[in-house]
Amino acid sequence: MNLDKLLQPEQYPLYLDVASININVRPYTHGDTKAFLELVDDYKRKKKGGMQKLFIAQRNLLDNAILPTATGEKPIQAKDLHRADYVKLLVFLKNITHGEQTPIQFRCSNPKCENEAKQRHIETFPFDFQDCVLQNKERNEIVEYTMQDNTNVKIKMKPYNFSILIDNADIFEAEVPSIEILSKFHASFINEIKINDEEVEDMSTATKIKILTNMVPKYKKSIVEYIDKEPMWKWNRKWECPVCDAKNEATLESISDFFL
Ligand SMILES: [Zn+2]
Repeated sequence: MNLDKLLQPEQYPLYLDVASININVRPYTHGDTKAFLELVDDYKRKKKGGMQKLFIAQRNLLDNAILPTATGEKPIQAKDLHRADYVKLLVFLKNITHGEQTPIQFRCSNPKCENEAKQRHIETFPFDFQDCVLQNKERNEIVEYTMQDNTNVKIKMKPYNFSILIDNADIFEAEVPSIEILSKFHASFINEIKINDEEVEDMSTATKIKILTNMVPKYKKSIVEYIDKEPMWKWNRKWECPVCDAKNEATLESISDFFL
């Protein structure tokens, strides 16, 4: 018997839509997920500060699952995955690891549904990216505005990749994120700034935060809108509740919707 067959990982091809590349991945092994699940338990007990640890552990999991190409190079690093590609990869790995499509639960929108049991009806659907639409894939990376004195400001933005999520993990822990947390988050999307076509040299995080803090809301709005419109998957599911016949329309589109 050739034991190598059992020790050799399976390979599955996956297309990453934002990066526009094909990669090969392998399912998680028990060894991969053990440390991660321990961290999840730890996070559930302590809550605060654990999100970043979880993201970093997840980054390591993904890096292990992404297989090198024939030349021995990794086609992409987990930290550079766009948010939409990262979500797709996470769901895909879960599916190939457990051998089934990830189910997603939706609650009936009728507040009176199953009222006697004091709980609304929950319907579960298998989720597949083939039914999903990637929104805003093609977009301009520049945010531009003209100030009252005709000063032109061009801001080159960064894509919403996994490293931005890792650096700003605290945003997922805060019920209402503070101005400081939000400013740091917005600043991490700024790549370069040109004022009347002249580049601002100091692009430290402190400077970016200072610029954002002093920016008039009508201009800052365009930055926030840019971030909101970064490419992401959208899945609309229309379903009729079998208990109360209510017509439901459920949507998945923010990243926390995909944390299954
Ligand atoms: Zn119902």
